[in-house]
Amino acid sequence: MRLKKLPSEFQEALPILEKIRKAGYEAYFVGGSVRDAILGRPIHDVDIASSSYPEETKAIFERTIDVGIEHGTVLVLENHQEYEITTFRTEDVYVDFRRPSAVNFVRSLEEDLKRRDFTVNSFALSEEGEIIDLFNGLEDLENRILRAVGVATERFNEDALRIMRGFRFQASLGFDLEEATFKAMTECAPLLEKISVERVFIELDKLLLAPFWRKGLEGVIASQSYQYLPLLQNSQSSLEKLFQLSMDYTFTSSEQAWAALLLTLDENKVSAFFKKWKTSRDFAKKVEQLVEIYRLREKASLNRRDVYRYDRSLLLSAEELRQAHGLPVDFQVIEEMYDSLAIHDKHEIVVNGGMLMKEYGLKPGPGLGQVLSAIEWAIVDGELENDKQAIGDFLSRYLEVKKGEAWAILLLKN
Ligand code: ATP
Ligand code: MG
Repeated sequence: MRLKKLPSEFQEALPILEKIRKAGYEAYFVGGSVRDAILGRPIHDVDIASSSYPEETKAIFERTIDVGIEHGTVLVLENHQEYEITTFRTEDVYVDFRRPSAVNFVRSLEEDLKRRDFTVNSFALSEEGEIIDLFNGLEDLENRILRAVGVATERFNEDALRIMRGFRFQASLGFDLEEATFKAMTECAPLLEKISVERVFIELDKLLLAPFWRKGLEGVIASQSYQYLPLLQNSQSSLEKLFQLSMDYTFTSSEQAWAALLLTLDENKVSAFFKKWKTSRDFAKKVEQLVEIYRLREKASLNRRDVYRYDRSLLLSAEELRQAHGLPVDFQVIEEMYDSLAIHDKHEIVVNGGMLMKEYGLKPGPGLGQVLSAIEWAIVDGELENDKQAIGDFLSRYLEVKKGEAWAILLLKN
């Protein structure tokens, strides 16, 4: 088959293929971008595979970066674009089920295509627009089927991450898994325990964010794969609660998807959960806050202090999740409340501890912290202007009241 019109992303990259060919090697577009081009879907990252070895590739181009030379990948910078060029390769026996024990560079395209995961991911596209389809991927694409390349059990035994990738592609493409492929995925699911959590996280995260996430998640459940993922053992009934979200709902961010997951798991130890999943602290924190907001909203409407405490995007994200659960929402009220706050962070207050000590004779210590908090909350509550004069007056009144209290001794310097 020949692609009638090469998408512009490929056309722009044609000079790269040409240069490699002129230097005496073969080069093709490969991987997901070819699949997406045939499907007429938007293309991201154009991957190129070549018979040139990394050093040979580097000799062809002026500007290159070694991004994964041990895997055969060289990044080429041309026309203000970056292209990953990977040497045709095979992967040796996977001794620990995690990573190939050796990557062998080869000169044959066929060998390279054979080591790819699914038939629809194993196309190569030539400069002329000719699709090389060695495993009947076109037929599978037509029938919307995901089928492992070669003997399925062998392929999932080599690299069990492919199991999660299979469900992830179900979620992004909406395809069904071919029977033997799904059977092998189920059989090999226990091997997921041996895969690095970071790699699994990426796939599960992509799955949850994809339009057909229900389909992907159904596969994860039906194959029992979740039993082998961090902290998801015996979570079937919780996972299934996600299906109660409105039918056409797609998550709008990773944080939101994982917050929804944690809420159905009724998981309170959010940071411990993500420690196991080895995500960044920042990500864990955001999900934790989203869960908090969602739980606050279950009890009541948010007040000014709640709205102050969290980022606008998280507040609205929690609200979207409520909407997806068919619960009443307050988007406008929350947005207006957020926008009406005089400050969104305490660093925006026009005075600070140092000024209070210098100008009002306050002592450093817990008393000072209390004064600053009182100022902060009064501003957030809309009772005090964020203005030096107003804060000065507030402080005089505050200190007057506090004078009668024994602890105030700690507050003022003699
Ligand atoms: P996406 O559109 O989401 O980027 P993709 O198909 O391009 O999907 P990538 O993860 O970017 O997927 O990988 C690029 C290609 O490399 C795949 O299409 C597949 O051919 C191959 N590949 C990636 N990971 C594996 C793996 N674990 N086992 C076998 N082949 C793989
Ligand atoms: Mg890709």
